[in-house]
Amino acid sequence: MFFPRMLASAALASVSLAGSVAFPALCDKFDAAVSSSSFVKCGVAPERWSEYEEPQPGAIITVGKEDDVAKIVQVANAFKVEYLVQSGATGWADTFTLGRTGIIIDVSQLKSISFNKDKTQVTFQSGVLIEDLVGAAYNNDARVATGTCNCVSVLGAGLGGGVGRGTGMYGLGSDQLLKVNLVDANGKKVTVTPTSNPDLWWALNGAGPNFGIVTSVVYKSYPMPQDQNTAWTGLLPYDSSKLEQVIAAIDKLDFEPEMQLDFYFTQGQLAVLPFYLGSEEQGRKKFASILDIGPLADDTAVIPFNTWNAAGDMFCARGGRKPAYTANMQTLDPTAWRNAWNDYLSFYQTYPEANQTTILTECYSTAKNLEIGGAKSAYPWRDIKCYAIVIPWYTSPSLDVQANDFAKRLRHLWYNSSGTSASSYVNFAHGDEPLSNIYGGSLAKLQRLKKQYDPKGKFNEWFPLS
Ligand SMILES: Cc1cc2nc3c(=O)[nH]c(=O)nc-3n(C[C@H](O)[C@H](O)[C@H](O)COP(=O)(O)OP(=O)(O)OC[C@H]3O[C@@H](n4cnc5c(N)ncnc54)[C@H](O)[C@@H]3O)c2cc1C
Repeated sequence: MFFPRMLASAALASVSLAGSVAFPALCDKFDAAVSSSSFVKCGVAPERWSEYEEPQPGAIITVGKEDDVAKIVQVANAFKVEYLVQSGATGWADTFTLGRTGIIIDVSQLKSISFNKDKTQVTFQSGVLIEDLVGAAYNNDARVATGTCNCVSVLGAGLGGGVGRGTGMYGLGSDQLLKVNLVDANGKKVTVTPTSNPDLWWALNGAGPNFGIVTSVVYKSYPMPQDQNTAWTGLLPYDSSKLEQVIAAIDKLDFEPEMQLDFYFTQGQLAVLPFYLGSEEQGRKKFASILDIGPLADDTAVIPFNTWNAAGDMFCARGGRKPAYTANMQTLDPTAWRNAWNDYLSFYQTYPEANQTTILTECYSTAKNLEIGGAKSAYPWRDIKCYAIVIPWYTSPSLDVQANDFAKRLRHLWYNSSGTSASSYVNFAHGDEPLSNIYGGSLAKLQRLKKQYDPKGKFNEWFPLS
């Protein structure tokens, strides 16, 4: 057990809790409650994907044993300490209010993964990243449906929905859940299945972070021998003069379940990443309208499952400030996207320190989502085709105002040209949106369930429902 008093300083000593114990002495209480495989760090800052509006806890408790999560919540409740679970630490929302009187419950070391005999189910813990699960599935002759970036935790993405390469074929990350083990607001361990508690199950699938700390799950897995576990994909950079043609072609694409596509404005360039779950020949046919525009290069190839997400690794770099904004899109309007490009280029060129600023748009087949339907989960955006995200990326807080203005302008542009009412997928959202833009038609029921399952608002750091 590691228990440094790194900032057992005047600053921390001055933090007190009404009628209770103060940090850093509080760290002893947590330290005494957890097993020897967990450790408490008092007064350290978390290392996160984005430093913008990140939580500033009094302590970080890194959990080494799943059972410790309940113990930590019980101690926190007893001493009136606010808490926030952290897994992949990539969440960029500005809804965090956790300060020096609160703790981060860091589950990133809970990494166990085990497949059943016929590889149709996988049980894993909450610290498992997409990279971990994809690698384990590939090595077990299986495929799983996760998000597309290696550094994100499977559950951090999945509890809010979880869109990824397999969405068209298998549905969202949340659709893969078969059983959820969580710690509730009273520090009680609860196992939830679709039949044990249908209401809570519904809420967990799309608004999970508001209802508990998930410690492990049973998840769907699809048996797939390694030599068949492949897809055709790769980067196609385009001259920016072809932007309208590219956008119009993507807008007209009929996304079949095997198809997915991302496009980027990054490093001053326009690039498209088609993805096809099948052969190169079929992939080229399905994306012919994009290829026919004439990319500057063609890096596509058939590649194995455990490398599908490699193209996104550059977006995983930690640190810096990244106040991101998003909009759900049904249609892509070439004129609006030309305006977005011009604004992006101007921001990129005016502020050299922000030269990693990226616009990323992910487009999916809605076939499986519509087949599964909205009633089974709180996820409200099953008919959405594309998710557009702008990530201003810089280091100096002095650029915060300009970065937020720029990104908000883009979201406004997208909301007004999206072909649907203004809405944002929770995991890509900023935090300033009305809750109805985030939870859509599920909002009223979610708020009712929130009163029932978390009446004191213990899980109120991530797009809180109360
Ligand atoms: C580079 C990058 C790529 C991304 N790619 C995708 C993608 O392909 N598809 C997609 O859908 N999303 C994607 N996202 C968004 C991602 O889903 C969210 O940022 C997600 O919330 C991150 O979860 P995390 O555990 O990695 O981060 P954290 O910051 O640790 O978690 C974010 C929030 O999720 C909640 N949470 C996390 N774990 C648990 C748990 N075990 N129990 C209860 N609540 C929990 C907490 O409220 C926490 O504050 C991406 C984000 C980044 C930065």
